[in-house]
Amino acid sequence: MTASMDPAQIAALQIEDDRTGLSIETLRRALADNLFYIQGKYPEIATKNDFYMALAYTVRDRLLKRWISTTRAYVKNNVKVVCYLSAEFLMGPHLANNLINLGIYEQIRKAVEESGLNLEELIEQEEEPGLGNGGLGRLAACYMDSLSSLEIPAIGYGIRYEFGIFDQEIRNGWQAEITDKWLQWGNPWEIHRPELGYNVKLGGHTESYTDEHGNYRVRWIPNQIIKGIAYDTPILGYQVNTANILRLWKAEAPESFDFQAFNIGDYYGAVNKKVVSENISKVLYPNDEQVQGKQLRLEQQYFFVSCSLQNMIRIHQDHGNSLETFHENFAAQLNDTHPAIGVAELMRLLVDEHHIDWDKAWDITQKTFGYTNHTLLPEALEKWSINLFGSTLPRHLEIIYEINRRFLDQVRLKYPHDVAKIARLSLIDETGDRYVRMANLACVGSHAINGVAALHTELLKQTVLRDFYEFSPEKFSNKTNGVTPRRWIVLSNPGLTSLISSKIGDNWINHLEDLRQLERFVEDANFRQQWRQIKLETKRNLANYIQKKTGVVVNPESLFDIQVKRIHEYKRQHLNVLHIITLYNRIKHNPDCEIVPRTFIFGGKAAPGYYMAKLIIKFINSVAEVVNADPDVRDRLKVVFLPDYNVTLGQKVYPAAELSEQISTAGLEASGTGNMKFSMNGALTIGTLDGANVEIREEVGEENFFLFGLRTEEVYALKARGYNPWEYYNSNPQLKEVIDLIASGIFSHGDTGLFRPLLDSLLYHDPFILLADYQSYIDCQERVSQAYRDQDNWTRMSIVNVARMGKFSSDRSIREYCQEIWNVEPVTIELEEYVQSKAGLNV
Ligand SMILES: *Cc1c(COP(=O)(O)O)cnc(C)c1O
Repeated sequence: MTASMDPAQIAALQIEDDRTGLSIETLRRALADNLFYIQGKYPEIATKNDFYMALAYTVRDRLLKRWISTTRAYVKNNVKVVCYLSAEFLMGPHLANNLINLGIYEQIRKAVEESGLNLEELIEQEEEPGLGNGGLGRLAACYMDSLSSLEIPAIGYGIRYEFGIFDQEIRNGWQAEITDKWLQWGNPWEIHRPELGYNVKLGGHTESYTDEHGNYRVRWIPNQIIKGIAYDTPILGYQVNTANILRLWKAEAPESFDFQAFNIGDYYGAVNKKVVSENISKVLYPNDEQVQGKQLRLEQQYFFVSCSLQNMIRIHQDHGNSLETFHENFAAQLNDTHPAIGVAELMRLLVDEHHIDWDKAWDITQKTFGYTNHTLLPEALEKWSINLFGSTLPRHLEIIYEINRRFLDQVRLKYPHDVAKIARLSLIDETGDRYVRMANLACVGSHAINGVAALHTELLKQTVLRDFYEFSPEKFSNKTNGVTPRRWIVLSNPGLTSLISSKIGDNWINHLEDLRQLERFVEDANFRQQWRQIKLETKRNLANYIQKKTGVVVNPESLFDIQVKRIHEYKRQHLNVLHIITLYNRIKHNPDCEIVPRTFIFGGKAAPGYYMAKLIIKFINSVAEVVNADPDVRDRLKVVFLPDYNVTLGQKVYPAAELSEQISTAGLEASGTGNMKFSMNGALTIGTLDGANVEIREEVGEENFFLFGLRTEEVYALKARGYNPWEYYNSNPQLKEVIDLIASGIFSHGDTGLFRPLLDSLLYHDPFILLADYQSYIDCQERVSQAYRDQDNWTRMSIVNVARMGKFSSDRSIREYCQEIWNVEPVTIELEEYVQSKAGLNV
């Protein structure tokens, strides 16, 4: 504004800008504007998706204003940035979450209504970006929310898979996988950055040479080059101006055509090169907790890590910094070993491309990386055969050998002559065929190593990473997982949110420990009544959804007993089914027996190549078919398998749960985060002492948690003395009856072979000790039923569960990472008005 402006001009400038204003009228006008000028439609011909897109762009404009202020503040202050490297980000739908974090949910609802539309319908229109398998990818998403909400400078780096996790359909009780075409109607949340591209080399060989100063150097001659292009999605924090970015890489060919091939007339061959290059970011591997030893998977990992590190180096140098201080400006966290190749890649970039000497580069690398381990399952520990690794990344193999040579020299100083120990610590597995061990690379290349729950970290130190713990104990710490209360309470459970806020205000949303204040109301009968009413409403909503999706009618007054998570033998969905059949037998023996009505709800995807997991899905659906149709049951038991479990469905399921099934074999679930989402929404947990269940029980009190099963040490001891499942089968008539009933073919239309592999696994091996835990589980479920009969007391326990969940906010987890691993501080972002003019453009 200048002195020459007259009052009318000044008044005109003060009218809200259509792209940033937050009043209902401005939002309504922006919505109409975007429908015309972005979608090119007018209301009479617009589809629901057009309206959704127009709304999404309306919201995105508000995010971008905050993002620009954020980026400018980061550059100006040369801040230290957390780089969260993850092959998966299971973000869930963006629209409603952004409305909550912007604080404009009600304004938008009114603006949408005034436009003759329904906000809930538009929210449902969004196809969720399913760029993850389960807990690990969802953790990355919760952490992005908390990083922004805590005003920590951060970039999430990953892969923009064209096809995310498959959509699951159930056909005749079996899982069918449908390609996830999440991009087909457009993605309004991302910004394509064609100018932000990096070349990534693959294959070929290396050559050594002496440079003009007489230094020994190596160059890598690849046989293929792929280009990574950035797509940025703004991630706004809750009630702050911080908008960090999620930067996902898409693979392209460096040139659209291979001109040489084109010129010799091989048009198809030329185009094919482009197609092959784009394969790298084509599809997410749908395996949870199981490695996929495919070359393409290694290429995916290297591709996104190389793009990300090159990008970090460019940012650092563009800001005028020297690479010697790289670790002072970046903390890179490895979300499991998927990005662990980053250790060798940063060394290659520093040594080969930027000519920093090895020792200096190694110091920078170790200070930059932290490593989070996510699993104790041996089948999930990544290793790559030397042949595959060397032919894909020949220079990295040399670098890893050199890292290993220097590391093992140190090991030998500490443990001279301990050949076995040296072999276990080596980055190369030489027990048979030779492999590169990615966890070992991550441990050696990081200054910090953490597990994701207290028990998990202890077990890491005692088992898979024991030698590393003994060699460098100072690197180890625990960072118990958390989940964001913005998505998992405020967004998914608005009824509970307003009840809580009516009693204690809304400070708990970003200070979750404040939920403790709810304990003051536990003895308030009126409050308990309201609490029960809200649970009943969420159960009715889910019951309606179940009927719509599966046709099964469930009773909202019955106990909602829910197990939703990836299908895996260690998670023991089939133990849950053994309980259902036990209750079914009880009814068949005495149709008039007193029984607490229950609705058993399952959901979860099986890896397409995991036969047992797929058979478990068929098993659940087969038992459901028989139980639901049996007149003797009189609707007292219902079994439902909800297809296509994902974040969107989770938002409907967790709020409606009364009993949360967390029944993995002790010692195998690293943390779990579903357990936290359930408990935050007032479900009580039936669970083993596994993962974060241990800490949940500690927080809520043992009297408010249904514990069963062997502890980890007892599992180890049982296996050590020789576990024989037949002993349990032969000595427990109730268990025998359940197993025999399955074997009889009653759940498989007389086919006694269908579930034979499942039964054989249980009777002959039972690696996850279902039979050993069976009776303890059944007894515990009986205690659950007894407790449910006293609704008032159940409600007390439910309130206490929620009140004591403060620890499990991802804000707490992120604060611990910031202080103990990343050494980063919050940066308060002021909203800059007229940022366009400050950027040197005339408005
Ligand atoms: C939270 C969540 C998970 C993880 O659940 P666990 O019970 O911890 O295994 C998996 N998938 C989705 C969609 C989730 O929201």
